[in-house]
Amino acid sequence: MTVAKNKITGLYWFTNDLRLDDNYALLRAAAESDKLLFIYCVHPKSILSDQKAPNRLSRNRQQFLYESLVDLDNQLAEQGQQLLVQFESPMNAIPQLIARHNITQIYGSNNAGQYERKIWQKLSKYYPMIGFHQAHTHTLFDSSQLPFTLDNLPDSFSSFRRKIEKAEKSGKLEIAKPLNAVPALPPCGPISDQYWRNLWRQQSLNCQPNEEQLFHGGATAGMLHLEQYFSDNRASSYKETRNGLDGMNYSTKFSPWLSNGCISPRQIIQRLKQYETEVEANESTYWIYFELLWREYFQWYAHSYKAKLFRFNGIKNSNPTTSFYPERFQKWCQGNTPYPIVNACMKQLNATGYMSNRGRQLVASCFVHELNLDWRYGAAYMEQQLIDFDVASNWGNWQYLAGVGADPRGHRRFDLDKQASIYDPDGQFVKRWAEDQDCWPLDSRDAVDWPVEVRAQAGG
Ligand code: FAD
Repeated sequence: MTVAKNKITGLYWFTNDLRLDDNYALLRAAAESDKLLFIYCVHPKSILSDQKAPNRLSRNRQQFLYESLVDLDNQLAEQGQQLLVQFESPMNAIPQLIARHNITQIYGSNNAGQYERKIWQKLSKYYPMIGFHQAHTHTLFDSSQLPFTLDNLPDSFSSFRRKIEKAEKSGKLEIAKPLNAVPALPPCGPISDQYWRNLWRQQSLNCQPNEEQLFHGGATAGMLHLEQYFSDNRASSYKETRNGLDGMNYSTKFSPWLSNGCISPRQIIQRLKQYETEVEANESTYWIYFELLWREYFQWYAHSYKAKLFRFNGIKNSNPTTSFYPERFQKWCQGNTPYPIVNACMKQLNATGYMSNRGRQLVASCFVHELNLDWRYGAAYMEQQLIDFDVASNWGNWQYLAGVGADPRGHRRFDLDKQASIYDPDGQFVKRWAEDQDCWPLDSRDAVDWPVEVRAQAGG
């Protein structure tokens, strides 16, 4: 007698892994499921603003996300599949799908974000009969490969890098080759959710391409950019140019696609190795790997410290000294501070959704040390604006610069005038982004609440 095998209906929940290639969780879902559904959830608060709170995703972020989802949906359509995009919390959307489609297994990326982690935990608690499967699709290594446990994550990047490189040299650790795309996807079966598909394309996201738009979302655009970057010799001088402030060529610009998971870090390493074999390997090509290790460190840092990533005192025991100055915060966001280099960076960010690494260090240092603001507000503003927002890299770097993170030196304060003279010596960058701008006083009222201008007239 043959026993009928129970059919497996899988659900793949996309988050920061918007690609079909090099995606172990997806390969597994495809191999194990008879039917498979794909969902991405856009939290309504991310896109709808009301008077009380601005939307969480800037227009630039919405545009990049929209393009990435369209590209993913097109790739799924080539295999007879589709992406369901739901404009509500996964805590509402996923249970609806479970009930309607008799989902038996759920798959997804092991996300370092607190929000995704909590939802994953809650769902697995509410549905003990469902199998939940996650894989590390956002990192170079799997947690099981690391030469330490996450509880013993080295407390500085240098120590992390030394351990990783030592394990690599001794052959104990290797960056795996990217996995191929799934050869064929199981069908989604007859589903009545067709309306979602139409809904998300129309309703959407605040999507009008912006004149300043530098990047187009999606795995297709990401892979094209990766090829273009290594098709000339930019990589050979990366180390000398990487601290630039403006333009497409001084650094790799991989981050928007990496952060959204349109490309994987292992795909970059594979292409980098090919360049090193075919063109040249030098200090600059090593430095691209070195920077990707910084990213790797912050990913495991977020997995290790969890909620502490968002805590005012970070992973340290003492609170930074700050106060609440709404006017300063607003001026910083708009690029109206007394520091022209900071203003130019912030205006660039607001217009394009991107800012150089040097720029990010300067505006964060200004926020913490000159304006004496609570670093978490700065991190939250960047979360809203950056098209390459990545929870681990953003919050980890902010903690580092605020002196409450993984920086053994602590308290890194940049001399803004000196930095401007090094990185914008002829003032071209400030001229482009903050030309004709008056340098605003830090506060319009002084400590005893006198308007600053009035005091100046009175000779005070
Ligand atoms: P490249 O210089 O070409 O570097 C190559 C890759 O290495 C990058 O794409 C990135 O993945 C990684 N990388 C480089 N520097 C860092 C770093 N300091 N930390 C982590 N990874 C790094 N990066 C993000 O991807 N998302 C963020 O939300 C983010 N927020 C940041 C906030 C602050 C305050 C600071 C100081 C840095 C932040 N970074 C963030 C890191 C870094 O600024 C960007 O990764 C980089 O500017 C992206 O441009 P690129 O791809 O041309 O970088």
